[in-house]
Amino acid sequence: MEALKNRIKQDGVVLGSQVLKVDSFLNHRVDPALMSAIGDTFADLFAEDRITRVLTIESSGIAPAVFAALRLEVDLIFARKRKSLTLRDDLYTEKAYSFTKQEENEITVSKHFLGADDRILIIDDFLANGQAALALARIVEQAGAQVAGIGIVIEKSFQNGRQVLQDAGYRVESLARVASLDGNEIRFVEVEAE
Ligand code: 5GP
Repeated sequence: MEALKNRIKQDGVVLGSQVLKVDSFLNHRVDPALMSAIGDTFADLFAEDRITRVLTIESSGIAPAVFAALRLEVDLIFARKRKSLTLRDDLYTEKAYSFTKQEENEITVSKHFLGADDRILIIDDFLANGQAALALARIVEQAGAQVAGIGIVIEKSFQNGRQVLQDAGYRVESLARVASLDGNEIRFVEVEAE
């Protein structure tokens, strides 16, 4: 998605060679026009997939996911993160190791909001090693529902998340694929190589 790649080039801040900071339009301050265009793109990519719900994880997945849900005319559910949890019968729970916080979170979704008939589009802001998306997918499967696909705003293609998710059998659609952050420079995956 050209507008997204241009914005990443313009405003993305490289932290080391592993982390990209996009606080000025996605992770802290949010650009609603860009989020709306991102929502349109996800909706187009999954238009034929009979999506019944969009699922993301708080907090940075919510902005792009809400626009995708709006365009697909379905509800959005965001999984909640807790450090620890006393077990509750009405929640699906999964553990997810956080790449940025370097700690394990327990993520939860109410059993009231996912059902066996659902076809779910999972959305997240970043894909690094795939642990957040995989935890969401396991929750969908706990509910007996289907993962129709995984939509990622920014994929760091030098990490193994795409491979992990594809090996698990999921379709992955990323709107920007970062090939490298080495030397303080943001390089994208060439379209031909996608
Ligand atoms: P994964 O679970 O794929 O290893 O990591 C994805 C999650 O970690 C995303 O939900 C995102 O919040 C966070 N994350 C991973 N890499 C980055 C990054 O380079 N920048 C930012 N802002 N968040 C990241």
